[in-house]
Amino acid sequence: MKQTPVFFDDIFIRFNQLLKEKKYHSVFILVDENTHEYCLPIFLSETEESIPTEIIEIPSGEENKVIEIAIQVWESMADLNASRKSLMVNLGGGMVTDIGGFIASTFKRGIDFVNVPTSLLSMVDASVGGKTGIDLNGIKNAVGTFSMPVATFIFPGFLETLPKTEFRSGLAEMLKHGLIYNKNHWKKLIALENFTTASIGNLIEESVGIKKEVVEKDPFESGLRKILNFGHTVGHAAESEFLQTENPLLHGEAVAIGMLVEAILSFENELISKDELDEIFVHLVRIFGKKELPEEIIPHLLHWMKFDKKNQNDQISFSLLDGIGNCQYDILLSENQISEGILRYNKKLTTI
Ligand code: NAD
Repeated sequence: MKQTPVFFDDIFIRFNQLLKEKKYHSVFILVDENTHEYCLPIFLSETEESIPTEIIEIPSGEENKVIEIAIQVWESMADLNASRKSLMVNLGGGMVTDIGGFIASTFKRGIDFVNVPTSLLSMVDASVGGKTGIDLNGIKNAVGTFSMPVATFIFPGFLETLPKTEFRSGLAEMLKHGLIYNKNHWKKLIALENFTTASIGNLIEESVGIKKEVVEKDPFESGLRKILNFGHTVGHAAESEFLQTENPLLHGEAVAIGMLVEAILSFENELISKDELDEIFVHLVRIFGKKELPEEIIPHLLHWMKFDKKNQNDQISFSLLDGIGNCQYDILLSENQISEGILRYNKKLTTI
């Protein structure tokens, strides 16, 4: 799977050039209600008007990343005479780029699509790397394809209207990129006192570069790409568990908790030093606050982890830090080791 370009400069000019070069017959722009309101007017005011363009709006939220919504979009596209020469534009956060990529890659056996991410998480993570998908019976990304967009166009200006909590959620993935692959990226991020579109500036491009490099080396996740799962084994379990409560966690908030527990597990396996562990705790707690994982939910968390596709026999597979800036994958841990790690995480939170 060949990686395709990610553009940061002159993105609207480049998008218009692409339309001319590829001679698309029509354009379908997929939005949710928020990106319809806040991002579509900017996009339309800057892009080519001469090609027939249809807007398709889907409801926002992970609960709508499902087959029923995909069917509605396929039906709308068929009613509006979409053809193999149509282009799909996914203008939104990771929910829209995931489901939009899935819809385009299966409609008429696959039509071209581009990603125009509007959330920080979709800019630095979801829109890059070629994974598309929908959830099935509550299991995240259970159905999907590996399909590359023709190109990805990143315009940080869209972040101006993104809610602050969503902004912070995307930051978790940027911090992860530094922790697993590039110490310098981590250091630059933690040196910032506050996080705004202006202050993270070029670091968005640097973070995308890390994800792109890892994916280019291992597009289908047979090895190295697994390092991107750091923080996600415990993180996904916490996300699923808290989804059932009145205080659900955003993806990045859950990943931040996951990174802290998995940093403890890295330390317990003698892969990072005490100083490195403390540095990770101080900064992630500064940015995301403290969220305890009560002892009574540990069996539930283990249950969610066992559901995860990355497991072998009774052990659970982890990607763990090997010093800040490096990561090892396929490390199998027992339930006992994981439970101990969660208890140590809770204890360490009280010392920060
Ligand atoms: P999201 O798409 O649900 O967006 C979060 C919220 O922000 C939504 O309410 C959305 O309408 C709103 N929003 C987006 N951009 C906005 C803007 N500019 N102004 C105002 N509001 C805006 O969630 P997300 O955090 O962007 O992405 C999460 C999804 O990404 C999950 O489904 C996850 O599975 C997926 N993901 C995929 C990959 C991948 O490799 N394919 C990687 C990571 C995450």
